[in-house]
Amino acid sequence: AALYKIDEWGAPYFSVNSSGNISVKPHGSATLSHQEIDLMKIVKKASDPKSSGGLGLQFPLIVRLPDVLKSRLESLQSAFNFAVRAQGYDSHYQGVYPVKCNQDRFVVEDIVKFGSGLRFGLEAGSKPELLLAMSCLCKGSTEALLVCNGFKDVEYISLALIARKLALNTVIVLEQQEEIDLVIDLSRKLGVRPVIGVRAKLRTKHSGHFGSTSGEKGKFGLTTTQILRVVKKLEQSGMLDCLKLLHFHIGSQIPSTALLADGVGEAAQIYCELVRLGAFMEVIDIGGGLGIDYDGSKSADSDISVSYSLEEYALAVVQSVKMVCDRKSVKHPVICSESGRAIVSHHSVLIFEAVSASVYDAPAMNTLELQYFADGIPEDARGDYRNLSVAAFHRDYETCFLYAEQLKQRCVEQFKEGSLGIEQLAAVDGMCELVSKAIGASDPIRTYHVNLSVFTSIPDFWGIGQLFPIVPIHRLDQRPGVRGILSDLTCDSDGKINKFIGGESSLPLHELEGEDGGGGTYYLGMFLGGAYEEALGGVHNLFGGPSVVRVSQNDGPHSFAVTRAMPGPSCGDVLRVMQHEPELMFEVLKHRAEEFVHDDGNGMATASLASGIARSFNNTPYLVMASSCCLTAS
Ligand code: PLP
Repeated sequence: AALYKIDEWGAPYFSVNSSGNISVKPHGSATLSHQEIDLMKIVKKASDPKSSGGLGLQFPLIVRLPDVLKSRLESLQSAFNFAVRAQGYDSHYQGVYPVKCNQDRFVVEDIVKFGSGLRFGLEAGSKPELLLAMSCLCKGSTEALLVCNGFKDVEYISLALIARKLALNTVIVLEQQEEIDLVIDLSRKLGVRPVIGVRAKLRTKHSGHFGSTSGEKGKFGLTTTQILRVVKKLEQSGMLDCLKLLHFHIGSQIPSTALLADGVGEAAQIYCELVRLGAFMEVIDIGGGLGIDYDGSKSADSDISVSYSLEEYALAVVQSVKMVCDRKSVKHPVICSESGRAIVSHHSVLIFEAVSASVYDAPAMNTLELQYFADGIPEDARGDYRNLSVAAFHRDYETCFLYAEQLKQRCVEQFKEGSLGIEQLAAVDGMCELVSKAIGASDPIRTYHVNLSVFTSIPDFWGIGQLFPIVPIHRLDQRPGVRGILSDLTCDSDGKINKFIGGESSLPLHELEGEDGGGGTYYLGMFLGGAYEEALGGVHNLFGGPSVVRVSQNDGPHSFAVTRAMPGPSCGDVLRVMQHEPELMFEVLKHRAEEFVHDDGNGMATASLASGIARSFNNTPYLVMASSCCLTAS
C-alpha cells in the first residue's frame, strides 16, 4: 500500500486487505453492517462464465459504487452544515451536480435520489443535459435547484422556462449578455416569470491548468460593465426581482483555500452590489473547483493535488461570504456549489488486464552467448567480431559497444543491398542487444500490454497529461519485482501510460504468472476517474466503452450484491456509432463467402464462416481473454 500511496489518495474508500487485494469501504468506514468489499471478488463475479455463476463480462470493466456517491454527497453536505454552524451563518448550503462530469443515467439518478433529502439539485450546460436533468429532477426534491449554464439559444431558454412551468426550481444563468434579451422576450411569450442568474467574470485568476477560463479574459461570464447593462435592462422591463443568483466558476481543481477565499470574497462583493442595485438576490453559486488529491501529496503546487480537505473548503467558503455580507449588512445568501469532480471521482474504478509483458534478461554477457551469435554473422564481419570479443574478454564493454555498432551498421548496409540474409541480420542484432545490456545501455523498464484504450478510458491522460492512481488490485502482499510502463491496444504511439503519480516514469509491477510472461490474470485498476473520463471517452480505434457492473453493499456472505451488469458495446454497436450498417456489411461478407468459398459437400465451410463473421459483429472490440472467451454475445 505504501509503495503505491494507496492510503494517501484512497482514504477513506480504498485500502489493501489481508489477502493483498484492494478492498473498498463504500461508505467511507467499515462497520459490522458495512463490511469491506474485496475488489477481486467483484472481478471474479463479473468475469466468471455464466455457467459457473459469474456474469460473463469482458474487460475492461468499470465497477460503479453507488454507496460511494452517497457518502460523497453526505460528506460534502455535512462539511457545509458544520461550517454554517461553526460560523453562525444565517442560511444554508444546497449543492447541484454538474451532469457533464458523468452523464451516466444511473449516476445522475443516484445523485438525485441520495440528494433529495439534502435539497441537492443538478446543473446542465447544454440542451440534452437540460432534458436529462429535467426528467431526473422530477423524482427529486422540489427545493432542489436546476441551474442552467452554458451558451443558450431560443430552444434552450424555452426549455428552461418550460422546466419552471413544470415546477422545477430552474435558474437561467446568463453566460453572455445577449441572452438577457431572449430571456425577457421568451418569458413574456410563454407567460413564465423566470428566475435569472448571472455568471460573473471574476478578476481572481486560478493559474493552474484548469484555470485557463478564469480571470478577466476568461471565456465565460459577464464583465462588470455587462452585469450593469443586464441590471438596467431588467429594471426597464420590470423584471429586476427575477435576478436572484450570482454564479462564478474560477476553474476546476482550485489548489488552495487562499485562492478560493479570494474568489468567493470578490463574488460576494458583486452579490452585495447587486442587492444594493435592487435585485432580489437569494443565492451565491460558487461553481465547481473543489479538488481531488489524485496523488495524495496534499500539495497546492500541482494540478493533480489540492492542499485542503472538504471541511477546510467549506469553512473557507462560508467564512468569506459571511465576512463580506456582514460588512455590507446584507442577508446571508444560500450557498450553492457545482462540485462535480469531488462528487463522482471516487465512485468508479476502471479495471483492466495486463495481457503480456516485454521480456528483459538480466544484464550479463558470456563468451558462450557471444559465440552463439557470432556463428551467424557474415564472413567479412569476422574482423569486427574478433575486436569485439577481445574487448569483451577484457571486460571493456564500452569498446565492445563501439565495435558492435560498427558491425551492425555494416551488416544493415549489406542487408539493404541484398547481400545479407535475414538470419544473419538477426544474429548481429542479438549480439548488439547483448552488448547493450552488458553496459547498461538497454532499457530495464518493461512494457506491459494492457487490454484497454487510453483514448477511450483515460482521455485526460492523453489530452492534458492528467495523472490518475493506477495500481495492481491484487498481489499487494508480494513485493513487485519489476518496473514497467503500460501500453494499450490501440495502434497509436500515444496509447501508452508512462507517467504515474509521484512523478514516476514507470510503475512497480509484479511479474506476470503465465508462460513467457503471457499470463492474462494480472489486474490493474485506475482509480478516481469517475469524473470526466467516462464522459469524454469516445470510440477511438472503435474500441467503445467498457462493461459496467453496479455493486451495492449488503449483509450477504460477500457483503455485496451486483445490482446491474451491462456488457460493453459490441463491434456492431461501435460501427453503428460511426454511421456504418453492420447488418448490411454482414450481408455483403456473407454473400462473398458464398461466392468464393467452396463447400466441402455438406455446406459447413460457408456456414461456419458466416457465423464467425456474425460472432465478430456481436462481440467486444477488445481482446477476448481466455477466462471470458466463452461468453461472447450470441
Ligand atoms: N460548473 C461549471 C460552470 C464548470 O465549468 C465546471 C467544470 O469545469 C464545474 C461546475 C465542475 O467543476 P468541478 O468538477 O471542478 O467541480
